[in-house]
Amino acid sequence: MEKDEFLSILKYLDKNWDKPWEVEDEMVKLLNKSGKPRLIELGRTPLPTEYGPITYIVFGDYATGKEHDVAVFGEFEGKKLKSPDYPLVRVHSSCRSSELFRASNCECRQELDFALKQMSKDKKGLLIYLNQEGGGNGIKAKIAAYSNTFELKSGNVTARKNRKGDVSSVYDGFRNTGYKNENRDFGVAADILKTLGVYSARLMTNNPNKIEGLASNGIKVKPLGIHIKPTNEIMREHLLTKAKKLGHDIRTENLE
Ligand SMILES: [Zn+2]
Repeated sequence: MEKDEFLSILKYLDKNWDKPWEVEDEMVKLLNKSGKPRLIELGRTPLPTEYGPITYIVFGDYATGKEHDVAVFGEFEGKKLKSPDYPLVRVHSSCRSSELFRASNCECRQELDFALKQMSKDKKGLLIYLNQEGGGNGIKAKIAAYSNTFELKSGNVTARKNRKGDVSSVYDGFRNTGYKNENRDFGVAADILKTLGVYSARLMTNNPNKIEGLASNGIKVKPLGIHIKPTNEIMREHLLTKAKKLGHDIRTENLE
């Protein structure tokens, strides 16, 4: 490899950690120009799980250089889902802090579990696990926002207080560190669905951006709310912020 090539790869990686959404936008434009599809199926296999049998499919994403995982409940006809009208669909962004370390500040792990259980009961559904952290801002931004929000005090992690004396939320954490709260592009989830022959979805979400993101990319959407009960004060605050500041369809009376 030439030195210049190597340096340009390092530059690309730096930018991918700092501003992954910008890299993604640029790459999508270049891909569209080249006519090359954004996704490549890297493989699929049947898999036994605690939720029942699934087909596990992994797609490579040329726009981000990352991989997206899909769990499909149901039968296939060739490469496409059999009778694909309005299956349950969850578009779930990775949240390594919650899903690996069982962090209790957000509801991601509970939502993932709930969605998989519902699909298992329905015997049909697609869980699309998008490899994107921190609302599309990337893991670097997420850690910065978290460290702006939480502090370790006398052996406990608490949320800092803002100037008004209110408990800080991760929403403030992202804003204070210069990031948007929603920087994701859900077009890639629509591409995954269409690749699997699915053009309609009962979409398990409270997030209007996800509904819009799929609907504007050719998927007919019937939204289906997910209501997770917070297990602690920090998570409760997080859900209230989503309802009040980000327009998520969360019943706030359930959080009081
Ligand atoms: Zn989370």
